[in-house]
Amino acid sequence: MKVSQETGSEANIGFGRALMPSYLEMCPQKAAFSSFRTQPETHCSRLSIGNIMEFTQADRQHLDKSKQDTGSLGNTDDALKYDSGRVAHDFSCIHSKDLLPAEEGEEATKHFLQELVNILLDYISKSLKRGSKVIDFHYPHQFKEGLEGFSLELPDQPDNLEQLLVDCRDTLKYGVKTGNPRFFNQLSTGLDIIGLAGEWLTSTANTNMVTYEISPVFILMEEVVLRKMHSIIGWQEEDGDGIFCPGGTMSNLYSVLLARFHLFPAVKTHGMSAIPRLALFTSAHSHYSIKKSAAVLGIGSENVIVVRCDERAHSVTWNPHKMMGVPLQCSAILVKRKGLLQECNQLCAEYLFQPDKHYDVTYDIGDKAIQCGRHVDIFKLWLMWKAKGSEGFEAQVNHCLENAEYLYYKLKRRADFQLVFKGKPEHSNVCFWYLPKRVQNIPPGPERDRELHMVAPKIKTKMMEEGFTMIGYQPLKNKVNFFRCVFSNPATQREDVDFLLVEIARLGCEL
Ligand SMILES: *Cc1c(COP(=O)(O)O)cnc(C)c1O
Repeated sequence: MKVSQETGSEANIGFGRALMPSYLEMCPQKAAFSSFRTQPETHCSRLSIGNIMEFTQADRQHLDKSKQDTGSLGNTDDALKYDSGRVAHDFSCIHSKDLLPAEEGEEATKHFLQELVNILLDYISKSLKRGSKVIDFHYPHQFKEGLEGFSLELPDQPDNLEQLLVDCRDTLKYGVKTGNPRFFNQLSTGLDIIGLAGEWLTSTANTNMVTYEISPVFILMEEVVLRKMHSIIGWQEEDGDGIFCPGGTMSNLYSVLLARFHLFPAVKTHGMSAIPRLALFTSAHSHYSIKKSAAVLGIGSENVIVVRCDERAHSVTWNPHKMMGVPLQCSAILVKRKGLLQECNQLCAEYLFQPDKHYDVTYDIGDKAIQCGRHVDIFKLWLMWKAKGSEGFEAQVNHCLENAEYLYYKLKRRADFQLVFKGKPEHSNVCFWYLPKRVQNIPPGPERDRELHMVAPKIKTKMMEEGFTMIGYQPLKNKVNFFRCVFSNPATQREDVDFLLVEIARLGCEL
């Protein structure tokens, strides 16, 4: 398999052997993976939120029914507690300072968070619905001017919670529904409910991966998941290290950093002037983050030399926030040689990494990172893995590959579409041109290319303004702008693939 941008796995680096003493050899290849009420803030009485709960006859009937259904919600007060999703609260008199940790802030906190959850649930079910809009597009100046009461400007006086809830709803309203089954744009798509639950829990725990002291459970989870990943890659038991970090670009940066340190350890303490001038070899298909790493690390982007890739990887970037559908962000750099991460990055800050702690301090993994504090990205992945099993992930990825193949066969049969690459898709990307009648009638050559080049951006503009689907486009070397469909959303079905082509043809046939 080749390195495929978008799919989020990349065996990045061979740092085994320098071609010449002054050359750093790096050969990326591929590993096998692949209406809320806006109320004017007038007569605002200082009631506790419990007193201003209002419920309608319909609510009461519903509650009575649920009482019968469950048998456990004995009285209406209890029922209200469990069913407050249906009860309207007045948040216009409440401010963040009334929430926990304020004394007696518990009720208000509960109702506020429940209302927020209602907004989120509403968003989730709407955005997963076929035919609902993927985007309600606005230009930057429209946001800046303020949209129907949605202002991005920051106040000096606190806004009430009603306003905050409206802002939350609007934020989602004007955003892109990346979980929509007809969202085909890069980079991450889908919305996994278990992953979402994991993200919520992570934010609630609000801790830091720097030491075992403050993240005992998450650090052990990371160890377990990394070990699982090593075994899937096929590394021996005694091999394998790694760390989760903020995205594939950072993972690739780690790989270049480690490769350089492996060959020239003096660079850590004495800098680039203490070592020979370096060049970095990378696959012609590697992601631009390798070049960026060369720029960041003082190697120089001009000193990156692209070569055909071979099969020696000492580290692998694995991005579960791509095809595995884990909510952003979730990425791991996996390193074959144990201890290298630690040697390369540790600085032994005395206020964090005291060697005389009462537990095994090798679990204070924070010093392996180039960060100090590190976000907990592991929990949602661990939870999803438990929920699906490895087989569930396999089925999810296979589903994406099947969609890609389905699109490929559809495109092959149509005269108004043309595949960019002849063969069957190697992974979940399918690249193609749409050819309006007018362009079909121009003989192949520079004039046709010039015209074809403008088709995809024009269709994309209309597509975003109407908002029912989204797909990316790009040129590639001498190939003019083409659509690039990336399947990674498990919600996408064949009918959505059908819709995509119908929509492109509808928007583009007159061009
Ligand atoms: C997405 C991707 C990256 C970059 O990952 P981010 O998480 O977006 O930083 C790098 N390489 C490949 C092959 C990718 O698909």
